[in-house]
Amino acid sequence: MVEHMKWWGWGQEGVSFHHEDKPDLAPFVLERVGLDLNGPGVPAPDFSKFSVPPSQAPGALREALVAAVGARHVVDEDLDRVVHTYGKSMRDLLRIRRGDFGRVPDLVVYPGTEAEVEAVLRAALAADAVVIPFGGGSNIVGSLEAPRDETRPVLSVDMGRMNALLEVDETSQVARIQAGALGPHLEAQLNGRGWTLGHFPDSFKHSTLGGWIATRSSGTQSDRFGDIADITRAVRVVTPRGVVATRNVPSQSTGPSVREMVLGSEGRLGIITEATVQVHRLAEERVILAYFFPDYGSGLRAMRDIAASDAYPSITRVSDENETAFTFATSKKSAGLSALLSKGVKLYATKRKGMDLSRMCLSFIGFEGSAAHVKRSRGLVNDIVAKHGGFCVGAGPGRLYDQKKFDTPYIRDFILDRGAIGDVSETSSSWSTMQTVHDNTVAAAHRAFDEIGVKGFIFCHLSHSYHMGACQYFTFAYVSSGRRDELEEYDLVKGAIQQTFIDNGATLSHHHAVGREHARWHEQDTSPAGAEIVRALFDGVDPGRNLNPGAIT
Ligand code: FAD
Repeated sequence: MVEHMKWWGWGQEGVSFHHEDKPDLAPFVLERVGLDLNGPGVPAPDFSKFSVPPSQAPGALREALVAAVGARHVVDEDLDRVVHTYGKSMRDLLRIRRGDFGRVPDLVVYPGTEAEVEAVLRAALAADAVVIPFGGGSNIVGSLEAPRDETRPVLSVDMGRMNALLEVDETSQVARIQAGALGPHLEAQLNGRGWTLGHFPDSFKHSTLGGWIATRSSGTQSDRFGDIADITRAVRVVTPRGVVATRNVPSQSTGPSVREMVLGSEGRLGIITEATVQVHRLAEERVILAYFFPDYGSGLRAMRDIAASDAYPSITRVSDENETAFTFATSKKSAGLSALLSKGVKLYATKRKGMDLSRMCLSFIGFEGSAAHVKRSRGLVNDIVAKHGGFCVGAGPGRLYDQKKFDTPYIRDFILDRGAIGDVSETSSSWSTMQTVHDNTVAAAHRAFDEIGVKGFIFCHLSHSYHMGACQYFTFAYVSSGRRDELEEYDLVKGAIQQTFIDNGATLSHHHAVGREHARWHEQDTSPAGAEIVRALFDGVDPGRNLNPGAIT
């Protein structure tokens, strides 16, 4: 009926990461974190071996829900309930593999229309049930789970049946789309009419429009198309106060923006049923070029200058030296990326550009639009890259990056099968603090690795550039020490990284949201009075704390 990911990990059942065709990866990982990729992995967990807490839904609530959406769309099967218990954070993966299911929803409800969503919410509120909207279940901040001690009935409202493109207004270049549409389904419907949304998060295949809005998501091509907050022009949301419908206009001066309150609300205000979003004609030309910079600092300065220029690329991304090394290690023999470090390129980098190969940083810059726009932007970017000591290495590696980016998430389960933790933290900050945020975060992670006595590895890239700054995305990995609980060790590393963001004037998240994972930094991020306003908003709309209680604040 509705597609779901593996109950215990990322993506489709039967699809997983392999390293055999990447000969440099195993030696690289062994050297950097001490993990032997050739060692045996644990088999996928067997669902039948676990016991799932039984559904506690009262009969009257179940009957009201059946009346609202039909019996087929009210589900109490264990597997379905467990799929809806968590998202895909490292904490979620560790717990689910242990059979620690927490407070499993009692029922999963699949509404098919906005009227059905209203009826579901009415029934839930009448029974004082907890309601947690569910998109694709891909969040990594713990924004889907009910409090462990929740004694009220818990409903997961899965929006997967509401996945249609309702209307394209070709004159205004906006489309009305139902909130449960998954990325590929939504793009296929738009592409069929010659349009694109231009929103491609790495989780694109398994996340939904409603989820993107509720978490303030950002896609790879945000430099051109904007974050989902820019793309979303109007929303319809079923709340305990009725249906909120914001106006389909480009901008408004009508007091605090209700549309903005819905963006990032993580199900705390209601259930988003549809949105009107900006769409663009499919581009005449699209290319991603690879570049090398002498070091991360010169790459950062080039990205800042590109953001301030007339170039207007779709992607700006530069990896630090550790991520560059990792990218080379994951490349297949004779595929685009390893060709980057051919003898010719190495000679050019060292002899002509005076680069030190161990410090060199890889960058991808994307261009999209008319042929004339792409040509002009490429020229402007080339000049800026050259000014910062870099050079272009062509389109082949960029094509490969583009094809493979949705496969990368499978690597986390692969290393977890072998006893290693691999996770991410991301932030945004101003250009003037970018390098400091980077260096202090790397140092904080290493202090945390030392504290737990493990050999850890952390790397970073800059992506999503803006006029005043950009996002930095950190990936870290280590083999659990075996001396402490894995979750406790994970908290130490993740906590050190997050606290460094806050202490250095960066934010707790650029696009992953708050959930329960980041809730402890929400007040530091928004100020005590700011957090109070957010709490007042949630309490005013939902005084019974029925809607996803515990997420954000
Ligand atoms: P879910 O995980 O189902 O829900 C997330 C939150 O939104 C919950 O609080 C839920 O209650 C609420 N919600 C969902 N639907 C609705 C609705 N209709 N109405 C009201 N509330 C709703 N994020 C990015 O922004 N960019 C990335 O590049 C990116 N890459 C990722 C890569 C991986 C491997 C993983 C695991 C995650 C990644 N994420 C990324 C995070 C995640 O995909 C996003 O947060 C995404 O927006 C979540 O969408 P979803 O549909 O899966 O929502």
